[in-house]
Amino acid sequence: MRISKMFIPTLREVPAEAEIASHKLMLRAGLIRKQASGIYSFLPLGYRIFRKIEQIIREEMDRSGAQELMMSALLPAEVYQPSGRWEVFGPEMFRLKDRNERDFCLGPAHEEVFTEIVRNEIRSYKSLPMMLYQIQTKYRDEIRPRFGFMRCREFVMKDAYSFDRDEAGLDMSYSKMYEAYCRIFDRCGLDYIVVDADSGAMGGSGSQEFMVKSEIGEAEVVFCESCGYAANREKAQCVPEMCCPGEEQRCCDELPLEKVATPDARTIEELMKFFNCSPKEFAKTLIFQADDRVVAAMVRGDREINETKLRNHLGCNELNMADPETVKRVTHADVGFAGPVGLGIELIVDPEVAAMKNFVVGANETGYHLKNVNMGRDFKAMAVIDIRNMEEGDGCPKCGSPVKVAHGIEVGHIFKLGTKYSKAFNCTYLDEAGKEHPMVMGSYGIGVNRLMAAIIEQNNDENGIIWPVSIAPYHVVIIPVNATIEEQMKTAERIYSELQSAGVEVILDDRNERAGVKFKDADLIGIPIRITVGKKAEKGIVEYKLRKSSEVKELKIEDAIAQARQEVMSALN
Ligand code: ATP
Ligand code: MG
Repeated sequence: MRISKMFIPTLREVPAEAEIASHKLMLRAGLIRKQASGIYSFLPLGYRIFRKIEQIIREEMDRSGAQELMMSALLPAEVYQPSGRWEVFGPEMFRLKDRNERDFCLGPAHEEVFTEIVRNEIRSYKSLPMMLYQIQTKYRDEIRPRFGFMRCREFVMKDAYSFDRDEAGLDMSYSKMYEAYCRIFDRCGLDYIVVDADSGAMGGSGSQEFMVKSEIGEAEVVFCESCGYAANREKAQCVPEMCCPGEEQRCCDELPLEKVATPDARTIEELMKFFNCSPKEFAKTLIFQADDRVVAAMVRGDREINETKLRNHLGCNELNMADPETVKRVTHADVGFAGPVGLGIELIVDPEVAAMKNFVVGANETGYHLKNVNMGRDFKAMAVIDIRNMEEGDGCPKCGSPVKVAHGIEVGHIFKLGTKYSKAFNCTYLDEAGKEHPMVMGSYGIGVNRLMAAIIEQNNDENGIIWPVSIAPYHVVIIPVNATIEEQMKTAERIYSELQSAGVEVILDDRNERAGVKFKDADLIGIPIRITVGKKAEKGIVEYKLRKSSEVKELKIEDAIAQARQEVMSALN
């Protein structure tokens, strides 16, 4: 293509609404435009890149034996009722009614639809295992759509589902998908890690997420550099510190319970000052609203509760801090004075608190705390279970070395669903003896928009995007320094057509613009190879430059063509 004819509306200014590199660059490079919060349209260059990413995904899915199909996005409520997700999705689901007042939604996920289709069509063990996938638009009314393609309300997902006879079959399908995912992300040029993930709300026996390490990622990853352990923070199993750090004596003997007036101290900082001790000698009691129950949860004073862990344990959909009136009703005290002693509601305690001795808690009376509290003697827990966040420096659950915590962008998720959906939908098969069994399922997702954004996050500099050749919108840009000089245009045209016949995707910047403007645009949109045709064209010499390096080489025209071709072919194979 000739750039003069192309629709690439680049922007010089950084759009005010964009905070992160990928979002800014997608707007500036003329790849996308915003329609509404979390809703975007693709412009030609952006769509070309997007289709290349889709194609890599498609090739690797096909290679792993999965079959592509396409489900509708507009779905009746009945599809989501057997699994309970018509309710579970809550306000995240875009809901609408047809002219007959029947409930519909725009599908946020398709487990139900695939299970239903397979249930209706597949009966025999002979058809299994089976792996189906689609690359299709999902709708989620996210609370906080943000960062452009990172969290949108309309986005494309590759979702695949495996159907097997048994757990062993599922394990095989799962590992095939794992390998396909690695190939996909490798081909996209990403540096990623695979982490153990929480499979709580969806049920199921195992799940892993593919994470691209990045400051702006919303997911938190715990990893151990000594043994390679890596887990989502919601999944990472904490190892409790087993003893309070006071002197030996206080550690071992239970001292008499004391009520202390603490009129002006309710935060941990204020209490530390008041009692003149470390936060490790306090236990926080937090009151939560879990669906329609009110529950209390305790962690050590310096720890944070991990709400996903707590939610999974409670098996609830909604979990929020209780409002001050509720806190007052259950603790008979203002916020800041809750404690476990005499508290008449369900209490979940972190193992670290269970191991503490003679610690401080709220007294359930405004202005008072209790000192020398001990679990067992002074209060009992409904459950002692890991509900805290793992922190940087905590012991690795596998090898004990201190772990690191980093932010990551979740680009893909693979999941052993088991029989949760097949049982709900009665999706069964008959074995050799004619006996009926539920199919054992897996589900596997990649967010294509988010993947595109993650690739940009990892591949950019102050001048723009640096596309890996595999997904660059075009491989080569040819820039005649002065498009009005015939010799330069002639040489540029010649390189253009020779590269095109060699199967290289090439664009020619034939605009009557200053060279500087053309270089800026080429850098911004991130074309991997640039060939500049200037004054030396008369002598058969052009400039050759890779977007990812600052080196400019002068090459004979033939050599520049050969190198570009070589560079592209080796990157694509
Ligand atoms: P998150 O925790 O980020 O909300 P999720 O657990 O809801 O993700 P899944 O339901 O597992 O995500 O969806 C599969 C993939 O779809 C995710 O790994 C992610 O890459 C992508 N994805 C999910 N939600 C969005 C979104 N709002 N915008 C863009 N991509 C998304
Ligand atoms: Mg989500």
